[in-house]
Amino acid sequence: MEDCLFCKIIAGEIPSTKVYEDEFVYAFKDINPLAPVHILVVPKNHISGADEINGENSAVVSKIFEAAAKIAKEQGIAEDGFRIVTNCGENSCQSVKHLHFHILGGKQLKADMG
Ligand code: AMP
Ligand code: ZN
Repeated sequence: MEDCLFCKIIAGEIPSTKVYEDEFVYAFKDINPLAPVHILVVPKNHISGADEINGENSAVVSKIFEAAAKIAKEQGIAEDGFRIVTNCGENSCQSVKHLHFHILGGKQLKADMG
């Protein structure tokens, strides 16, 4: 999609630090990490957010979670634990309108997610 930051990153038009890629999924380091490990996992096809997941496109969500499990192991955070979160819409402070899942780990995360 034109004018989408993450579509440009997936296309290689904007640089990123790639940690994983397959046919459906791209994962890269968050530019403003909130934890020692902070990775974004995104579908290669543009989906604007969690509210746009439907019967036509939802298969990629399982691909994202398969990738996330691999990434967590590779990054050494699987044993101690990690968090996967996606923001959707204004109240959640979603800033990039391309579905993305944050993987956060490498420290004790706060229980309060509000
Ligand atoms: P959200 O606020 O949930 O929409 O998350 C967007 C995330 O994208 C934020 O954590 C940003 O730090 C991250 N981000 C923005 N621009 C880039 C970029 N060029 N490369 C990597 N991460 C980015
Ligand atoms: Zn996009």
